[in-house]
Amino acid sequence: MFDSIKNIFNSNDEPNLVYGEKPDIVREKSAELYEKAKQYFPGGVNSPVRAFKSVFGTPLFIEKGDGCRLWDADGNEFIDFCCSWGPLILGHNHPKIREKVIEVMQNGMSFGAPTSLETELAELIVKNNQFLEKIRFTSSGTEAVMSAIRLARGATKRDKIIKFEGCYHGHSDSLLVKAGSGLVTFGETSSAGIPKAFADDTIVVSLNDKNALKEAFSQFKDQIACVIIEPVPANNGLLLQDKDYLEYVRSICTENGALLIFDEVISGFRVGFEGAAGYYQIQPDIITYGKIIGGGLPVGAYGGSSEIMSNISPEGSVYQAGTLSGNPVAMAAGIAQLTELAKSGFYKELNNKTEEFTASIQRYAASKNYKFKVFTIGSIFWFAFTDMEKVQTSEAIDPASMDKFKSMHRELLNRGIYFGPSGYEVGFISAAHSKMDLEKAKRAIFDCLDIVFKNK
Ligand SMILES: *Cc1c(COP(=O)(O)O)cnc(C)c1O
Repeated sequence: MFDSIKNIFNSNDEPNLVYGEKPDIVREKSAELYEKAKQYFPGGVNSPVRAFKSVFGTPLFIEKGDGCRLWDADGNEFIDFCCSWGPLILGHNHPKIREKVIEVMQNGMSFGAPTSLETELAELIVKNNQFLEKIRFTSSGTEAVMSAIRLARGATKRDKIIKFEGCYHGHSDSLLVKAGSGLVTFGETSSAGIPKAFADDTIVVSLNDKNALKEAFSQFKDQIACVIIEPVPANNGLLLQDKDYLEYVRSICTENGALLIFDEVISGFRVGFEGAAGYYQIQPDIITYGKIIGGGLPVGAYGGSSEIMSNISPEGSVYQAGTLSGNPVAMAAGIAQLTELAKSGFYKELNNKTEEFTASIQRYAASKNYKFKVFTIGSIFWFAFTDMEKVQTSEAIDPASMDKFKSMHRELLNRGIYFGPSGYEVGFISAAHSKMDLEKAKRAIFDCLDIVFKNK
């Protein structure tokens, strides 16, 4: 058994233990489960990042989550800062969500017909969000974004879209496109299997660059259906934009008759109940949601004004549908979760807790002169191995700095702290992370920083 685990590690991966490092956690059961999974799934997983390709060791197979904690198949316990990549803002297995889901499930799991649960969740969202009038539920964030793009194209009768390098919008064809070279570029597909024709309609520009955007609009005058942006870009580091820039994106869209899509699959219900639109007080034309909206079950949504949403079938001519859209069990989880988030003071407490946690890590790193920054907004944070005061474009991230994250990730796991297995991914804090949990995590993080910077 032990031999097969060893084989999963690259021989270069074997660390020379120095003072302060801990031996690796046992991953025997996870390794066994991974071997078996590889017989059935490409790369052994159902979503690529889970394969731990950018960090050390075999992926951990999770057996259980409760509050802010996770347990893997070998019984290792972790404080979790991945939180299922964002949805679990109340932590794992929250009793109110679990109970509501079980209650609704007693009556069956899917009908393919309307239920009042869809309206209940929509009402909860729309009544507490001044940026939306109507909404449509989907089953994932990818689907929500794909539909929002179709809506923008249908409503404007234009084909081209503008996206930003460093923003992720799910895996639909039009959006798996990256920048070529030059200020304004036709995209290049970032996955095999995407026809060039899709990439030709997706224009990619850098974040935080007003000129590039202006140039794109002048080159493709009256052809741009929409600009899609993560207003809080959190899928390639945390590339926080200035409010002034986001306002510019809004105004240039308006001037050119293009729609502005805020992809709030991460930021929605995360930086506040009204997401980034509320945080920055900017009115987009279409907003997409995912992750938190489903309370851990598969839900996505897109919404906008009644007028824009009237283009959607059966009212309008833009077709979009889903066998399991508005699924009652998923709606139940969303209702239970968002009900908690709508309570007064929820975000203030969570955001304060995050601010304290990240500020004290930043202070520690600064006191030791480590080349390390913690960027944060709401309850999202990102560890960046840089000395730049701001990182606002993907080009500003030094790929070589990811080696440091890789060592850090291993040391964190060995101290019972679970981060998403990539240095480009952000961390999340949930309402279930107590001050004591955060205190414990902080100490472990200090130790890990000392090891990564070889200063123990
Ligand atoms: C996660 C994410 C998506 C895709 O959502 P899935 O549910 O994974 O399909 C789209 N946009 C953003 C901003 C995301 O973070």
